[in-house]
Amino acid sequence: MGQPGSARRSVTRCATRVLLVEDNRGDAELIEQSLAGEGEGSFGVESVSRLSDALERLGSGGIEVLLLDLALPDGQGIEAFDQVFRAAPDVLILVLGTASDEAIARQAVQRGASDYLIKGHVDAHWLPRALRYLLDRKATRDALQASELRFRAMSDASPLGIFVSDVQGDCVYTNAAYQRISGLTFEETLGTKWSTAIHPDDRQRVLAEWRDAAGSGAPFQTEFRFLQPDERVVWARVNSAAMNDGLAANGRVKTVEDISQRKAVEFALRAVEEALFEERERAQVTLDSIGDAVLTTDLQGKVTYLNLAAEVMTGWSREDALGRPLSEVFHIIDGATRQAAPNPARRAISENRTVGLAADSLLVRRDGCESAIEDSAAPIHNRDGRVAGAVIVFHDVSESRAMVLKMAHLAHHDFLTGLPNRVLLTERLSQAIGLARRRGKQVALLFVDLDYFKHINDSLGHAVGDLVLQSAALRLSACVRTTDTVCRQGGDEFVILLAEIEQPQDAALVAEKLLVALAEPQRIGQHEIHVTLSIGISVYPDDGVDTDAVMENADAAMYHAKASGRNNYQFFTAGMNSHAVRRLFVETGLRRALRQSEFRLHYQPQIDLASGTMTGTEALIRWLDPALGLVEPEQFVPIAEECGLIVPIGRWVLREACRQVQSWLDSGLHAVPVAVNISALEFRHQGFVEGLALILKETGLAPRYLELELTESILMHNTESSGRVLASLKAMGVQLAIDDFGTGYSSLGYLKRFPIDTLKIDQSFVQDLATDTDDATIVSAVIGMGRNLKQRVIAEGVETQEQLAFLRTQRCEQGQGFFFNRPLPAEDFARLLVAV
Ligand code: C2E
Ligand code: MG
Ligand code: MG
Repeated sequence: MGQPGSARRSVTRCATRVLLVEDNRGDAELIEQSLAGEGEGSFGVESVSRLSDALERLGSGGIEVLLLDLALPDGQGIEAFDQVFRAAPDVLILVLGTASDEAIARQAVQRGASDYLIKGHVDAHWLPRALRYLLDRKATRDALQASELRFRAMSDASPLGIFVSDVQGDCVYTNAAYQRISGLTFEETLGTKWSTAIHPDDRQRVLAEWRDAAGSGAPFQTEFRFLQPDERVVWARVNSAAMNDGLAANGRVKTVEDISQRKAVEFALRAVEEALFEERERAQVTLDSIGDAVLTTDLQGKVTYLNLAAEVMTGWSREDALGRPLSEVFHIIDGATRQAAPNPARRAISENRTVGLAADSLLVRRDGCESAIEDSAAPIHNRDGRVAGAVIVFHDVSESRAMVLKMAHLAHHDFLTGLPNRVLLTERLSQAIGLARRRGKQVALLFVDLDYFKHINDSLGHAVGDLVLQSAALRLSACVRTTDTVCRQGGDEFVILLAEIEQPQDAALVAEKLLVALAEPQRIGQHEIHVTLSIGISVYPDDGVDTDAVMENADAAMYHAKASGRNNYQFFTAGMNSHAVRRLFVETGLRRALRQSEFRLHYQPQIDLASGTMTGTEALIRWLDPALGLVEPEQFVPIAEECGLIVPIGRWVLREACRQVQSWLDSGLHAVPVAVNISALEFRHQGFVEGLALILKETGLAPRYLELELTESILMHNTESSGRVLASLKAMGVQLAIDDFGTGYSSLGYLKRFPIDTLKIDQSFVQDLATDTDDATIVSAVIGMGRNLKQRVIAEGVETQEQLAFLRTQRCEQGQGFFFNRPLPAEDFARLLVAV
């Protein structure tokens, strides 16, 4: 009991400290007494009568129980309670009131008071026990709260997310880590199901796993993505375990581990793995699809890899080859010595550089087959840049080596007969001459031509012709020594080089042997063929001291043999120059041609440029030589002129042209006038005019159907007699044309003097019309001149549309040339003529 007026204290050590706030002294004492009776150390009661005192006392701490009257002089009712509760929330508070205060007292209990006592009912026996009970309960509650706080702190400190659900599966608790992972607040998680936050793409799978686990009772564990409200994705591993409260299942707890980082690493690794895989695949496919063989070894020279080509070329499968010594799988030998070739991989490794294989290396396949190869070996480096092995790349060059040999052979040999060709012959001839010069010996060259071969080719066909040439090649080769060379020049010409003879007579013996060998009839298919030869011989040094001279003279001698009736041989003689020989040869041919009717006429249309119709034709001679085929006039007309044969030939042409045109007319065709080329010699020939008159008479052709093409030179020479002839021709009624106009003399006076009907502009001017302005000027000048002199103008050699267009703009009347038609055989030409 304390002193009145002051704070009464009866403090007992270890007693529960009670602060009684009561202004009614009687009530206060009653309570003090009730509590005092409770033995030593139980309650130490302090009393105050005002709220302000109570608050002050609470402020200095130590009070465990507060008994509060709600009707104090400086504080009443629930406000008084609130003030006290705020000041000491941890203190056990009992509210004291009268029976009429019960409603307020209850309100206080709702706000934190532990209980209330109705004054007047305080029982000395009951109060301490009630207090003790309330204290115990508070202690328990405080302990629980502390433990929960501890748990919460621990739980929030954990990096593992925790999700606790009740029996229905609704969330009752989540920790901070879970909220971080799910992106939800504590409140947002409450009442939700655990699957709510699963990424929609994972949800189905996870729930299926969940159902399976639930079925089997196995602990559940899985990985999935959380999709946070702001779309962020977090990878998590989730464990789920049942919480057992005694026997009854009591909800579940899920721990959630954020594995985003691990996943990121995992994905990165997988990406790298995939990239590596792709890289390997690509390399593998590439290596297997390239034509080159690729083989790798380690530092010890053991095979570590072969691509497909390498498998094929070595004959070793990858499985068999791996780990074997290189020399076993890649067995190479030197093509020349057949000794084992040095291992290129070893060199590449020891020298740390790319090395090539020795030329002429052969790869011996597992089955013993050999192939020529080309290869190179290079060191392989590891990441540290140290040599870790070698790669050998090689390919089969058998074909290309064979091709090189073949090309070399082809360059020097004739395709058809396999004999050396002109190139090789020239080489050998110059070698032979060099050698003969040093040794004081002679060399003979025989030009050999098959007589009438052309005939065989034309009548029996090229295939038979080729067989004849091949068989001739064999027979010729059989007649000479192996040191001699038989060569085919082309066509039916062979050349034989006798590399070393003592005297020209040796060559004659060979030539005779050749004639005999070939004279033997040969069977080719069902044909029996007789071949004769014309042979020309020239000898070094007598007939020439260099290859060109020896060749040329053998050729001349051969023509001589031909001209001397074929099937014989001739030595070159000083009088035989090649032109003379050729001339002689042609002349002989022409005589025969006249006799045997080997000449033909081709006809080339002359076209009116404005209308496109044919206005005339030019007859052009061709020689159908049985051996040489169709010979162009340029090859023989000059020679015919030289030897005078042009006169009988020209007469034949005139007669044939007149006959032909008359025969077209007779057969009802709308024939056009024919122009015939007359050479100077013919023109000046005594009986020319009479001869012509006779031909016209004999063939019955009206003279206006005939035009004579003369050259400028005819008109310029001996003009007086020329004038007379021209006048009589004109009187006869034939047309006169000047051929190749523009190429001759510059004096144009004769144009006025002579009765010329037609000017033929030489084709050389027409050819360059588009590019040469001089030519264009000349052509337009000639056209203008012709127009003034009332002469017909024909442009020769019109080949292109451009030339034609130019001529048209210049109003050139007529043209002749390949653009319209080539010269045609009579039958073809007749088809162009319209029936009347
Ligand atoms: P030419 O009298 O000037 O005959 C024209 C020549 O040009 C012909 O050559 C003809 O085929 C050729 N030719 C025609 N159109 C074109 C073309 O568009 N482009 C080119 N580049 N050429 C073309 P061919 O038939 O070879 O006659 C050549 C020469 O031989 C003739 O020149 C003529 O001077 C002479 N000739 C032809 N036949 C006889 C004849 O029976 N007697 C005489 N004495 N000489 C003749
Ligand atoms: Mg002509
Ligand atoms: Mg001409």
